[in-house]
Amino acid sequence: MSAAETAFDAAAVTPPQCPIATASPAPRRTRQARVVWGQRVVTVGGDAPVRVQSMTNTDTQDAIATAIQVKELAQAGSEMVRLTVNTPEAAAEVPHIREQLDRMGIDVPLIGDFHYNGHRLLTEFPACAQALSKYRINPGNVGKGDKKDKQFAQMIEAALKWDKPVRIGVNWGSLDQALLAELMDANSRRAAPWEARQVMYEALVTSAIDSARQAVALGMAPGQVILSCKVSGVQDLIAVYRELARRCDFPLHLGLTEAGMGAKGTVASAAALSILLQEGIGDTIRVSLTPQPDEARTQEVVVASEILQALGLRMFVPSVTACPGCGRTTSTTFQELAKQIDDHLRARMPVWRSQYPGVETLKVAVMGCIVNGPGESKHADIGISLPGNGEAPAAPVFIDGEKAMTLRGEHIAQEFHAIVERYIEQRFGRAAAA
Ligand code: SF4
Repeated sequence: MSAAETAFDAAAVTPPQCPIATASPAPRRTRQARVVWGQRVVTVGGDAPVRVQSMTNTDTQDAIATAIQVKELAQAGSEMVRLTVNTPEAAAEVPHIREQLDRMGIDVPLIGDFHYNGHRLLTEFPACAQALSKYRINPGNVGKGDKKDKQFAQMIEAALKWDKPVRIGVNWGSLDQALLAELMDANSRRAAPWEARQVMYEALVTSAIDSARQAVALGMAPGQVILSCKVSGVQDLIAVYRELARRCDFPLHLGLTEAGMGAKGTVASAAALSILLQEGIGDTIRVSLTPQPDEARTQEVVVASEILQALGLRMFVPSVTACPGCGRTTSTTFQELAKQIDDHLRARMPVWRSQYPGVETLKVAVMGCIVNGPGESKHADIGISLPGNGEAPAAPVFIDGEKAMTLRGEHIAQEFHAIVERYIEQRFGRAAAA
């Protein structure tokens, strides 16, 4: 064999088009709902961005505490906030909560979460029905027997009267037991019965879609009916929502119910929601975290936003890339700097959002040594490579891919902070002025 025959022929082995496909979330194809308060219109579904929502855990009867928590959730990035409306006293406070928020300049739409007595509360407290921007109806909890349809219809009548969208929110913890029993019976008569789990999935999906069709038959526009079918298992959620999305085009509210605390709740929510969002399923999300004793309620908004940002679906805050550290980093300087920068950028966002449009796309890198530091920093808009174990005590800073300066000494962190602030002001302030 000659040298010419054995030579690598790149042209022969490289196909004309790159064989590696790029990855991105599939398009969503639902109808669009409008959740409105005053001038604020939050669209859900269709070509609207995937929305972030949250729920308060204050007693709704305590209007001040609830208004404060709604404000915190809204400032953290929640685009709709749901609150429990469970008693006449709570329903009576809803208009006051709305007033407090309006006075503080917080126009986030409020969603009323109703169970058992929603038909009565929405009828007997018209100011509550008006102050809310959407009603959540759980078909498993609207009433039993022949009362069920009547009470469901009463809630839909209120939605029509006040021109509000609804969410038909099915939950496996409060699934319509009559429907489940009916489907179980039908299953037992099958030649090859389904697994009990599959019958439960069918009951969840049927309950949601039948109730939505009932609402449409009563006069609701199909786009104004949002659906959810929440379960607490990751694989169960994926199975149920795939089927829900296959069978209808109502906008979908997506969330893993009772996800749990801390890392477990965060990881389970991220795993389930990411798979479905990547498939184009889910128009608005809520992360149902149980707050740890010292944790803010706003953590669920942070996690929901991070899921959407990680998937490239939306940008909310500048991203900070930081290496995990290893034996090359003996000090905690870079961990502290990464945390400080991250905290600082988040804290400034409520102001920067309007002052510096586009600042949420900023990428900052804080790296621990020379191995990946300069490379990762060059990929970011602004990055710093701190000295690792045994390296010279100097930290090169890269701006827009170029080495801009080297920081030395005691005050590297403060100097880097100032450089980031200046960069934001110059780049995004100019854009705002233009
Ligand atoms: S960049 Fe350096 S310090 Fe950070 S993980 Fe990689 S090798 Fe370790």
